[in-house]
Amino acid sequence: MTSLYRNTSYLMSITERPPVMFVRGAGSYLYDEAGLAYLDWMQGWAVNCLGHAPDIVVAALARQASTLITASPAFHNLPAIELATLLTRHSALDQVFLCNTGAEANEGAIKLARKWGQLHKNGAFEVISFDKAFHGRTIAMMSASGKPGWDTYFPPQVPGFPKAQLNDLDSVKALIGPQTVAIMLEPIQGEGGVNPASLAFMRGLRALCDEHKLLLILDEIQTGCGRTGTLFAYEQYGIEPDIMTLGKGLGGGVPIAALLAKQHCSVFQPGDQGGTFAGNPLTAAVGTAVLNALLAPGFLENVELRGQQLHDGLSQISHDLALGEVRGAGLLLALELGAHIGPQVVDAARRNGLLLNAPRPHSLRFMPALNSTEREIRDGLRLLRQTLEHV
Ligand code: PLP
Repeated sequence: MTSLYRNTSYLMSITERPPVMFVRGAGSYLYDEAGLAYLDWMQGWAVNCLGHAPDIVVAALARQASTLITASPAFHNLPAIELATLLTRHSALDQVFLCNTGAEANEGAIKLARKWGQLHKNGAFEVISFDKAFHGRTIAMMSASGKPGWDTYFPPQVPGFPKAQLNDLDSVKALIGPQTVAIMLEPIQGEGGVNPASLAFMRGLRALCDEHKLLLILDEIQTGCGRTGTLFAYEQYGIEPDIMTLGKGLGGGVPIAALLAKQHCSVFQPGDQGGTFAGNPLTAAVGTAVLNALLAPGFLENVELRGQQLHDGLSQISHDLALGEVRGAGLLLALELGAHIGPQVVDAARRNGLLLNAPRPHSLRFMPALNSTEREIRDGLRLLRQTLEHV
């Protein structure tokens, strides 16, 4: 350990951190100070869709950094236009606001819905969101989220986010009233434990939105950008959102996020939304490079294949060790452990060279790089089995 390691007390304490420091990353692996390799199945909480330090991202950063890092959102720049063009061409949405984090994109989504409510729905402002949802850590997004305990942490709550239950259409219907302007959800709740919205539920929500003139907001910050095997998870439901947010994988490790809207609800006017770093050329150029990589022939097929391999392997482990359900899609999967041993498993796996995440004490979440190889998935499954056999 370097002596600097002792200075961690200068950082605010925001999460429990294990006694390991990573100094280098390459592809599916992270390396600690002693040079030990760890197979990374967290990948920055699903951020590094192309693995660590991918050539594509490094090259785009270097190229753009030596050309124009930022001017100001007061001026147009080519990388932002290029990324917005690509995003709209490959999605059902028409306009894009580029920003920096998922929470910021979601804040924008709520602002857009509330303004649309002012203009087109008699001032309606309530956005129905869901128990166990996770939409970010700003004050409003904590209120939109349904994370247990958060309602009491930083009172008062921001009003206007009544909570329904995922996959229970009646619980949504019961909340719809004259003040309702939108329904907001993740196609698969990530932090909540990898809980997929069912096909019937998602289609039911779309029908409810059409019937009651509500906006459907999909938070695809975790499920978007190829994570579930299609470019966007909504494609697998045969529906289209009115508003969608992206983040995480969009920058392949570089902080960029996006708010997308259909024309009919893209109601921002100059002054309504912005940010010093919004749509900066540096991260926009990276976003375009990453998206082009995801769209390259065979890339999404690999996500599906590796996802199936991981799903099959987890199911086998679950069967052999009498564990619980395997769920999720593509390379966003979870394994139910049947007992509150998630944190112990995460610790033990790390000591065995595998980095995992336990969003809930009783479940593990798997988010390998989308370009993982067959061998990497096999190696990870072997390390996981070894770990689980000895916890
Ligand atoms: N929405 C979802 C579904 C997420 O998974 C996350 C982060 O985990 C966020 C929003 C917040 O994104 P950020 O941490 O970039 O603000």
